[in-house]
Amino acid sequence: MRHITTNSSTPAPPVRGIADISWHARGACRGLEAHEADRLFFSAPRALADIAEAKSFCHTCPVRQDCFTHALDNDIRWGMWGGLTREERRPWHAKVAKRLDYARVRAAIMGRDVFLTAAERDAVARHAYVRKWTPERLSYVLAVDLDHARDLLRDAGHAIADRDRYWTPADPDDDEADAMDETFCPVPRQVQTDDLIDALRKAA
Ligand code: SF4
Repeated sequence: MRHITTNSSTPAPPVRGIADISWHARGACRGLEAHEADRLFFSAPRALADIAEAKSFCHTCPVRQDCFTHALDNDIRWGMWGGLTREERRPWHAKVAKRLDYARVRAAIMGRDVFLTAAERDAVARHAYVRKWTPERLSYVLAVDLDHARDLLRDAGHAIADRDRYWTPADPDDDEADAMDETFCPVPRQVQTDDLIDALRKAA
C-alpha cells in the first residue's frame, strides 16, 4: 500500500491562517482615507485613471503576494487585490478550486486554520485515514461536523483501496494476480486508451 508521507519533525510551513490579515498593516495603501481607497481599489471597470493610480500603489507594495492570496483564499471577486483587477484575477479564481498545494495540506495537518480547496481537504482526509486518525481529530482539523468527518474517512479508505488496486503492478509469479487479470487489468487507463487509438488507426 502506498502512503502519503510526512515528516513530523519538519517545522510548520509559513502558510497564513484564514483569519490572518496582519499583512495589511504593511500594505502601501495603508493609511488612505476610506473614500480614497474605495475610489482607487474598488473603482468602476472602465475608470482607467483610477485603476492606474491604484496599481502604482500595488507595484511597490511589500505585501502584494499576501494581498493577492487573501483575495483568492477568501473568494473575493471584486476590487483590486495584489495589483490585479477583478477581470485580471478571474482566471486565478477559476483555477484555485483545483489547487493542490502540499504546503497548505501539511500546515492544516499541523493544526493551522488555512484555507483548503476540495482537493487539499481530500489529501488531509487520506492522510488521516492512513494514519488512523479518529473522526474527532479530523473533524477538528477540517472544522467539519463529526458525521461528515466519518464520511470523509470512509471515502478516503475507499479511494486509497481503489488506487492501490488500480496501480499496483501484477507480480508475474503470483498465481492469484494471474487469476485477477481476467477481471482486472493493471495497465493504466491512458495506456489502454493509447493502444485502442493505435488499433483503430491501423484498422482504418
Ligand atoms: S497590494 Fe495593493 S491593495 Fe494590496 S495591500 Fe498592497 S497596495 Fe494595498
